[in-house]
Amino acid sequence: MDEMTLTQGTRYDTSALEHVGWTGGDGEGYDCWVYFADDGTYLGPDQHGAEPTWTWAADAVARGEHPGGRCPHCGTEAEWRTCSECGRSAWIVDCGCLAQPRPIAAGRADGTDTEHWYCDQCAAKEADND
Ligand SMILES: [Zn+2]
Ligand SMILES: [Zn+2]
Repeated sequence: MDEMTLTQGTRYDTSALEHVGWTGGDGEGYDCWVYFADDGTYLGPDQHGAEPTWTWAADAVARGEHPGGRCPHCGTEAEWRTCSECGRSAWIVDCGCLAQPRPIAAGRADGTDTEHWYCDQCAAKEADND
């Protein structure tokens, strides 16, 4: 897996990320997680232009949930999904081989609004009918 930097303003599923190092190689000792807001939104490089670098976590790679990844069992391709409500984003393989529903899946928990992606937290909320 190649080393990468993240996209500022994107809300990542941080459990799928593994910290590797730093741009410029001089960030040793910094906390890579202060570059995220509490909800997982990546805040971008600091005032010195330095930022942490990453790979996809080993368990995400094992599931094929990374760019260009595929389910190791059936070959279903991973896709980048963004929750339409909160913006949480992740690479998702959605096939029968993995526990269902996936962390970001079509529709709400009650089966409505299957036109849109919802993360597990937002899917469980009541639809806003006001
Ligand atoms: Zn599969
Ligand atoms: Zn959400």
